[in-house]
Amino acid sequence: MAEAEHGGNIVKQLHQLHIELAGYENQLERGPMRINATDNLITKRQAAVDAEREKLTDFKKTVDAKNLQLKSNEAKILELRGKLNAATSNREFDIIKSQIEADEMANSVLEDEILECLDKVDQGQVAVGDLEKEVDLAEAQKEKLAGEVAAEKPGLEENVARLQGEIKEATKPLPSEVMEHYIRVVKSFGPDAMSSVSSRICQSCYIEISPQMNVELNSGKFVICRQCARILYQDEE
Ligand SMILES: [Zn+2]
Repeated sequence: MAEAEHGGNIVKQLHQLHIELAGYENQLERGPMRINATDNLITKRQAAVDAEREKLTDFKKTVDAKNLQLKSNEAKILELRGKLNAATSNREFDIIKSQIEADEMANSVLEDEILECLDKVDQGQVAVGDLEKEVDLAEAQKEKLAGEVAAEKPGLEENVARLQGEIKEATKPLPSEVMEHYIRVVKSFGPDAMSSVSSRICQSCYIEISPQMNVELNSGKFVICRQCARILYQDEE
């Protein structure tokens, strides 16, 4: 009977119940946060795919433009060859010939550039494929996680409800003024609203409580730390 009414025991029990409750509540909160984190990962990876695709499009456009230039130069060379056959003087012949040579040189450079660009297109296509796989992986990860979070939710909620009930029950013996204080500190500090006292030292603020308070604590009275406002209980160890 005397044991059951011992304030310290009630406070210690409340502290343990609140710590347990906070653990389950944290797990409940962490679920959606973890899913959000995978959402961010998907967004980031999708952005990388888009950027690589854009680069790929640019390379393809460059290839098209250079191919067009090549064809136009080839047509010009063909035309110049016609003129070369119709040249009426050595001087004209030489001029046309050197124009053809210059255009052929330009086309040779263009061909190299086109090949180089086509290599980049190939590499870009591989890179896009790889990055898309990364997106798929992140999406699979999200789906798996969402399944896990959904599966553990009912159990966590059940534990939260159970502990809330146990806490409510455990607070019944609290005198009304202690109850008021308890509600306030729990609102501010959560499970840390209660603190143990070890060798007269409050384990929340590490300030020594007075001998008088220590006596009261030992006698089973509800004692509040003057420094940090926690509701105290004697650490038995
Ligand atoms: Zn304290």
